[in-house]
Amino acid sequence: MKKKSNRNWTQFLSGVPARDYVFQDIPYEEQIKRAAALIEDAEMVLIGAGAGASAAAGLTYSGQRFTDNFSEFIEKYGSKYMTDMYAAGFYPFPTQETKWGYWSKHSMLNRFLPPALPLYQQLYELVKEKDYFVLTTNVDHQFHKAGFSVERIFATQGDYGNIQCEKGCHQKIYDAEALFYRMDGARKDCRVPSDMVPKCPVCGGNMTMHLRCDQYFVEDENWHEAAGRYGDFLQKLAKKKGVLLELGVGFNTPTIIRFPFEKMMRDNGNLSLLRFNLKEAFVPESFGTRAIGIDGDMARAVSDLYNQLEGKACGRNE
Ligand SMILES: [Zn+2]
Repeated sequence: MKKKSNRNWTQFLSGVPARDYVFQDIPYEEQIKRAAALIEDAEMVLIGAGAGASAAAGLTYSGQRFTDNFSEFIEKYGSKYMTDMYAAGFYPFPTQETKWGYWSKHSMLNRFLPPALPLYQQLYELVKEKDYFVLTTNVDHQFHKAGFSVERIFATQGDYGNIQCEKGCHQKIYDAEALFYRMDGARKDCRVPSDMVPKCPVCGGNMTMHLRCDQYFVEDENWHEAAGRYGDFLQKLAKKKGVLLELGVGFNTPTIIRFPFEKMMRDNGNLSLLRFNLKEAFVPESFGTRAIGIDGDMARAVSDLYNQLEGKACGRNE
Protein backbone atom coordinates (compact mmCIF):
# COMPACT_ATOMS: atom_id res chain seq x y z
CA MET A 1 0.00 0.00 0.00
CA LYS A 2 1.26 3.42 -0.90
CA LYS A 3 2.11 5.55 2.08
CA LYS A 4 -0.02 8.66 2.40
CA SER A 5 2.22 11.66 1.94
CA ASN A 6 -0.28 14.48 1.63
CA ARG A 7 -0.72 16.45 4.80
CA ASN A 8 -3.72 18.59 5.41
CA TRP A 9 -3.01 21.69 7.51
CA THR A 10 -5.99 20.88 9.73
CA GLN A 11 -4.06 17.84 10.94
CA PHE A 12 -1.93 20.15 13.03
CA LEU A 13 -4.69 22.17 14.61
CA SER A 14 -5.21 22.04 18.32
CA GLY A 15 -3.96 18.47 18.52
CA VAL A 16 -7.18 17.24 16.94
CA PRO A 17 -6.45 14.92 14.04
CA ALA A 18 -8.27 16.14 10.95
CA ARG A 19 -9.98 12.78 10.56
CA ASP A 20 -11.78 13.42 13.87
CA TYR A 21 -13.59 16.47 12.48
CA VAL A 22 -16.99 15.63 11.09
CA PHE A 23 -19.99 17.39 9.69
CA GLN A 24 -22.72 15.78 11.75
CA ASP A 25 -25.31 13.74 10.01
CA ILE A 26 -28.22 14.87 12.16
CA PRO A 27 -31.33 16.57 10.74
CA TYR A 28 -31.38 20.33 11.39
CA GLU A 29 -34.61 20.25 13.45
CA GLU A 30 -33.12 17.57 15.68
CA GLN A 31 -29.97 19.64 16.16
CA ILE A 32 -32.02 22.65 17.24
CA LYS A 33 -34.02 20.52 19.70
CA ARG A 34 -30.89 19.03 21.20
CA ALA A 35 -29.21 22.44 21.38
CA ALA A 36 -32.24 23.90 23.17
CA ALA A 37 -32.23 21.05 25.67
CA LEU A 38 -28.53 21.57 26.39
CA ILE A 39 -29.02 25.29 27.02
CA GLU A 40 -32.03 24.61 29.20
CA ASP A 41 -30.06 22.17 31.36
CA ALA A 42 -26.95 24.31 31.59
CA GLU A 43 -25.97 26.12 34.77
CA MET A 44 -23.48 28.29 32.92
CA VAL A 45 -23.16 29.44 29.33
CA LEU A 46 -19.97 30.73 27.78
CA ILE A 47 -20.55 32.54 24.49
CA GLY A 48 -17.63 32.82 22.09
CA ALA A 49 -18.38 35.06 19.12
CA GLY A 50 -16.34 35.82 16.03
CA ALA A 51 -16.78 37.79 12.83
CA GLY A 52 -19.34 35.35 11.45
CA ALA A 53 -21.81 36.34 14.17
CA SER A 54 -21.91 39.99 13.18
CA ALA A 55 -21.96 39.15 9.48
CA ALA A 56 -24.98 36.90 10.09
CA ALA A 57 -26.57 39.64 12.17
CA GLY A 58 -26.40 42.00 9.17
CA LEU A 59 -23.08 43.82 9.55
CA THR A 60 -21.66 42.42 6.32
CA TYR A 61 -18.34 43.92 5.21
CA SER A 62 -18.62 43.18 1.50
CA GLY A 63 -21.06 43.29 -1.37
CA GLN A 64 -23.67 45.96 -1.70
CA ARG A 65 -23.38 47.21 1.87
CA PHE A 66 -19.78 48.10 1.09
CA THR A 67 -20.24 49.49 -2.42
CA ASP A 68 -23.29 51.55 -1.44
CA ASN A 69 -21.61 53.20 1.52
CA PHE A 70 -18.04 53.52 0.29
CA SER A 71 -18.46 54.41 -3.40
CA GLU A 72 -16.50 57.64 -2.91
CA PHE A 73 -13.61 55.73 -1.33
CA ILE A 74 -13.67 52.99 -3.98
CA GLU A 75 -13.50 55.63 -6.70
CA LYS A 76 -10.68 57.52 -5.01
CA TYR A 77 -8.44 54.60 -4.01
CA GLY A 78 -9.37 52.00 -6.62
CA SER A 79 -11.53 48.90 -6.53
CA LYS A 80 -8.39 46.75 -6.57
CA TYR A 81 -7.68 47.74 -2.98
CA MET A 82 -11.13 48.75 -1.81
CA THR A 83 -12.70 45.31 -2.15
CA ASP A 84 -14.53 45.23 1.19
CA MET A 85 -14.43 46.91 4.59
CA TYR A 86 -11.91 44.48 5.97
CA ALA A 87 -9.38 45.10 3.17
CA ALA A 88 -10.15 48.83 3.11
CA GLY A 89 -9.09 49.11 6.75
CA PHE A 90 -5.59 47.99 5.75
CA TYR A 91 -5.25 50.57 2.96
CA PRO A 92 -2.10 52.67 3.51
CA PHE A 93 -3.88 56.01 3.74
CA PRO A 94 -1.34 58.70 2.75
CA THR A 95 -2.28 61.24 5.43
CA GLN A 96 -3.92 61.42 8.85
CA GLU A 97 -6.79 63.37 7.27
CA THR A 98 -7.53 60.51 4.84
CA LYS A 99 -6.99 57.82 7.48
CA TRP A 100 -9.58 59.39 9.78
CA GLY A 101 -11.78 60.12 6.78
CA TYR A 102 -12.06 56.39 6.27
CA TRP A 103 -12.19 55.19 9.87
CA SER A 104 -14.77 57.71 11.01
CA LYS A 105 -17.05 56.41 8.24
CA HIS A 106 -16.31 52.77 9.07
CA SER A 107 -17.05 53.34 12.76
CA MET A 108 -20.27 55.21 12.11
CA LEU A 109 -21.53 52.42 9.88
CA ASN A 110 -20.51 49.44 12.01
CA ARG A 111 -20.39 50.76 15.56
CA PHE A 112 -22.46 53.89 16.18
CA LEU A 113 -25.40 53.86 13.76
CA PRO A 114 -26.65 50.24 13.94
CA PRO A 115 -29.07 49.47 16.76
CA ALA A 116 -28.86 46.19 18.67
CA LEU A 117 -29.50 43.64 15.95
CA PRO A 118 -32.10 40.85 16.33
CA LEU A 119 -29.51 38.05 16.35
CA TYR A 120 -27.79 39.58 19.38
CA GLN A 121 -31.08 40.38 21.07
CA GLN A 122 -32.16 36.76 20.74
CA LEU A 123 -28.82 35.57 22.06
CA TYR A 124 -29.37 37.73 25.09
CA GLU A 125 -32.83 36.24 25.61
CA LEU A 126 -31.29 32.76 25.41
CA VAL A 127 -28.82 33.34 28.23
CA LYS A 128 -30.02 36.24 30.36
CA GLU A 129 -31.34 33.98 33.14
CA LYS A 130 -28.14 31.94 33.21
CA ASP A 131 -24.74 32.55 34.67
CA TYR A 132 -23.23 33.62 31.34
CA PHE A 133 -20.08 35.22 29.97
CA VAL A 134 -19.18 36.55 26.51
CA LEU A 135 -15.74 36.22 24.95
CA THR A 136 -15.63 38.02 21.62
CA THR A 137 -13.18 39.13 18.97
CA ASN A 138 -15.85 41.43 17.53
CA VAL A 139 -15.32 45.15 17.98
CA ASP A 140 -18.76 46.47 17.05
CA HIS A 141 -20.28 46.70 20.55
CA GLN A 142 -23.34 44.58 19.64
CA PHE A 143 -23.29 42.56 22.87
CA HIS A 144 -23.36 45.75 24.92
CA LYS A 145 -26.20 47.17 22.83
CA ALA A 146 -28.29 43.99 23.16
CA GLY A 147 -28.26 44.24 26.94
CA PHE A 148 -25.45 41.92 27.99
CA SER A 149 -23.85 43.13 31.21
CA VAL A 150 -20.59 44.97 30.66
CA GLU A 151 -19.22 42.94 33.60
CA ARG A 152 -19.82 39.78 31.58
CA ILE A 153 -18.17 40.76 28.30
CA PHE A 154 -14.53 40.42 27.35
CA ALA A 155 -13.93 42.03 23.95
CA THR A 156 -10.30 41.03 23.48
CA GLN A 157 -9.54 42.85 20.24
CA GLY A 158 -10.72 46.40 20.95
CA ASP A 159 -13.70 48.52 19.95
CA TYR A 160 -14.45 50.68 16.90
CA GLY A 161 -15.61 53.39 19.29
CA ASN A 162 -12.22 53.99 20.90
CA ILE A 163 -8.83 55.32 19.84
CA GLN A 164 -5.34 55.05 21.31
CA CYS A 165 -1.78 56.32 20.80
CA GLU A 166 -0.42 54.75 17.63
CA LYS A 167 2.73 53.71 19.49
CA GLY A 168 0.87 52.71 22.66
CA CYS A 169 3.07 55.10 24.64
CA HIS A 170 0.63 54.95 27.55
CA GLN A 171 -1.96 52.35 28.48
CA LYS A 172 -5.08 54.40 28.00
CA ILE A 173 -7.86 54.43 25.44
CA TYR A 174 -10.11 57.34 24.47
CA ASP A 175 -13.82 57.42 23.63
CA ALA A 176 -14.10 58.74 20.07
CA GLU A 177 -17.87 58.89 19.65
CA ALA A 178 -18.23 62.68 19.59
CA LEU A 179 -15.12 63.02 17.44
CA PHE A 180 -16.39 60.53 14.84
CA TYR A 181 -19.78 62.23 14.65
CA ARG A 182 -18.02 65.57 14.01
CA MET A 183 -15.73 63.99 11.41
CA ASP A 184 -18.70 62.37 9.70
CA GLY A 185 -20.37 65.74 9.30
CA ALA A 186 -17.21 67.47 8.06
CA ARG A 187 -15.73 64.84 5.71
CA LYS A 188 -15.05 66.10 2.16
CA ASP A 189 -13.42 64.13 -0.64
CA CYS A 190 -12.80 61.25 1.82
CA ARG A 191 -10.82 63.55 4.16
CA VAL A 192 -11.50 65.18 7.49
CA PRO A 193 -10.28 68.73 8.28
CA SER A 194 -6.74 68.88 9.73
CA ASP A 195 -7.92 70.45 12.97
CA MET A 196 -9.98 67.33 13.71
CA VAL A 197 -7.01 64.94 13.50
CA PRO A 198 -6.41 63.63 17.05
CA LYS A 199 -2.94 63.70 18.58
CA CYS A 200 -1.63 61.66 21.50
CA PRO A 201 -1.96 63.80 24.65
CA VAL A 202 1.22 62.23 26.08
CA CYS A 203 3.79 61.93 23.25
CA GLY A 204 2.10 64.22 20.70
CA GLY A 205 2.26 61.49 18.05
CA ASN A 206 -0.49 60.07 15.90
CA MET A 207 -3.50 58.26 17.26
CA THR A 208 -5.03 55.10 15.83
CA MET A 209 -8.09 52.90 16.18
CA HIS A 210 -8.24 50.72 19.29
CA LEU A 211 -7.99 47.50 17.31
CA ARG A 212 -5.49 44.71 17.79
CA CYS A 213 -3.39 44.82 14.65
CA ASP A 214 0.15 45.17 15.97
CA GLN A 215 2.22 45.04 19.16
CA TYR A 216 1.11 48.55 20.19
CA PHE A 217 -2.46 47.50 21.02
CA VAL A 218 -3.34 49.07 24.37
CA GLU A 219 -4.63 46.77 27.08
CA ASP A 220 -5.91 49.23 29.66
CA GLU A 221 -7.22 48.66 33.17
CA ASN A 222 -10.72 47.75 31.92
CA TRP A 223 -9.27 45.24 29.48
CA HIS A 224 -7.30 43.53 32.25
CA GLU A 225 -10.28 43.53 34.60
CA ALA A 226 -12.42 41.88 31.91
CA ALA A 227 -9.67 39.32 31.33
CA GLY A 228 -9.64 38.63 35.07
CA ARG A 229 -13.41 38.16 35.20
CA TYR A 230 -13.19 35.76 32.25
CA GLY A 231 -10.55 33.78 34.14
CA ASP A 232 -12.80 33.65 37.22
CA PHE A 233 -15.71 32.46 35.08
CA LEU A 234 -13.59 29.66 33.61
CA GLN A 235 -12.61 28.49 37.09
CA LYS A 236 -16.26 28.26 38.10
CA LEU A 237 -17.15 26.62 34.81
CA ALA A 238 -14.71 23.80 35.50
CA LYS A 239 -17.04 22.49 38.23
CA LYS A 240 -20.42 23.14 36.60
CA LYS A 241 -22.61 21.86 33.83
CA GLY A 242 -21.93 24.31 31.07
CA VAL A 243 -22.54 25.05 27.43
CA LEU A 244 -19.97 26.61 25.13
CA LEU A 245 -21.96 28.54 22.56
CA GLU A 246 -19.58 29.28 19.69
CA LEU A 247 -20.82 31.65 17.00
CA GLY A 248 -19.15 32.35 13.69
CA VAL A 249 -15.57 31.64 14.73
CA GLY A 250 -13.51 30.66 11.72
CA PHE A 251 -9.81 30.16 11.15
CA ASN A 252 -8.71 33.80 11.09
CA THR A 253 -7.97 33.89 14.84
CA PRO A 254 -8.96 30.39 16.05
CA THR A 255 -6.53 30.60 18.97
CA ILE A 256 -8.74 32.92 21.00
CA ILE A 257 -12.05 31.03 20.96
CA ARG A 258 -12.26 27.97 18.72
CA PHE A 259 -9.23 25.99 19.85
CA PRO A 260 -9.49 26.90 23.55
CA PHE A 261 -13.16 25.83 23.49
CA GLU A 262 -12.17 22.49 22.03
CA LYS A 263 -9.51 22.09 24.69
CA MET A 264 -12.05 22.84 27.45
CA MET A 265 -14.30 20.18 25.93
CA ARG A 266 -11.52 17.61 26.10
CA ASP A 267 -10.60 18.57 29.65
CA ASN A 268 -14.10 18.68 31.09
CA GLY A 269 -16.77 16.08 30.41
CA ASN A 270 -19.50 18.29 31.91
CA LEU A 271 -19.31 20.73 29.02
CA SER A 272 -21.18 20.75 25.72
CA LEU A 273 -20.31 22.64 22.57
CA LEU A 274 -22.80 24.32 20.26
CA ARG A 275 -20.91 25.43 17.18
CA PHE A 276 -22.80 27.71 14.79
CA ASN A 277 -20.85 28.33 11.63
CA LEU A 278 -21.34 28.95 7.94
CA LYS A 279 -19.41 26.18 6.15
CA GLU A 280 -17.04 25.36 9.04
CA ALA A 281 -19.44 23.80 11.53
CA PHE A 282 -17.47 20.57 11.74
CA VAL A 283 -16.85 19.26 15.25
CA PRO A 284 -14.56 16.58 16.66
CA GLU A 285 -16.45 13.29 16.39
CA SER A 286 -14.87 12.14 19.64
CA PHE A 287 -17.01 14.68 21.51
CA GLY A 288 -20.01 12.51 20.63
CA THR A 289 -23.40 13.89 21.61
CA ARG A 290 -21.72 16.62 23.69
CA ALA A 291 -21.09 18.62 20.51
CA ILE A 292 -23.52 19.96 17.95
CA GLY A 293 -22.24 21.64 14.80
CA ILE A 294 -24.94 23.66 13.11
CA ASP A 295 -24.10 24.66 9.58
CA GLY A 296 -25.71 27.41 7.52
CA ASP A 297 -27.55 30.62 8.26
CA MET A 298 -26.86 31.48 11.89
CA ALA A 299 -29.54 34.16 12.11
CA ARG A 300 -32.12 31.52 11.26
CA ALA A 301 -30.58 28.94 13.59
CA VAL A 302 -30.44 31.28 16.58
CA SER A 303 -33.99 32.38 15.85
CA ASP A 304 -35.15 28.73 15.69
CA LEU A 305 -33.29 27.97 18.90
CA TYR A 306 -34.89 30.98 20.55
CA ASN A 307 -38.37 29.90 19.38
CA GLN A 308 -37.76 26.33 20.53
CA LEU A 309 -36.88 27.52 24.05
CA GLU A 310 -39.67 30.12 24.14
CA GLY A 311 -42.13 27.47 22.99
CA LYS A 312 -41.08 25.29 25.88
CA ALA A 313 -41.35 28.16 28.31
CA CYS A 314 -44.92 28.88 27.18
CA GLY A 315 -45.94 25.23 27.07
CA ARG A 316 -46.70 25.46 23.40
CA ASN A 317 -44.26 22.75 22.42
CA GLU A 318 -45.42 19.26 21.52
ZN1 LIG B 1 1.66 58.57 22.62
